[in-house]
Amino acid sequence: MLFADDTEATLKASVDLVNSAEEPDTLTAIAELDAWYEHHGYTGRRDGDAAELEALRALRPVLRELLTAERDDAAELVNALLAEAEAVPQLKRHDGLDWHIHAVPPDAPLERRVMAEAAMAMIDLIRLDELSRLSVCADERCNGLVLDLSRNRSRRYCSTACANRNAVAAYRARRASGGADRGR
Ligand SMILES: [Zn+2]
Ligand SMILES: [Zn+2]
Repeated sequence: MLFADDTEATLKASVDLVNSAEEPDTLTAIAELDAWYEHHGYTGRRDGDAAELEALRALRPVLRELLTAERDDAAELVNALLAEAEAVPQLKRHDGLDWHIHAVPPDAPLERRVMAEAAMAMIDLIRLDELSRLSVCADERCNGLVLDLSRNRSRRYCSTACANRNAVAAYRARRASGGADRGR
């Protein structure tokens, strides 16, 4: 474990949320927001309406800016987002989860909690100078974010789809150059 459990969980959820904006957009229906919420083990208020979906969609470029910012800019953004979310960090223990931070109350709108949690997670990355854990996918045509929590920092692609596509392309390139050699 590199960071605290809640920090890692928040980073994963935030990256997934940002990446849902990649074409084809995978956050266009309330059911898709339900799935994201469930998958990442969120608790607390869910409105389940169109306004909430729209608020989460609108949060994606904000989180993208935060997660891709240079360290000094990220620090400024964290401060601004925490102020905007009126964050008052509190340690909580509930639903079998050990002590972790709630930056805003569980009855606050989901977008406000997601924003505040992302900012709190970035505090850890900034303080530990670990922003290199976040990058943009190495696939030329993909702008997906990559969260690399691996010990050897080996992750370069946002998804197995991108990793596989590039592995196939690299294989074909090797084959093609091998063929040219034989032709000489
Ligand atoms: Zn909690
Ligand atoms: Zn990708």
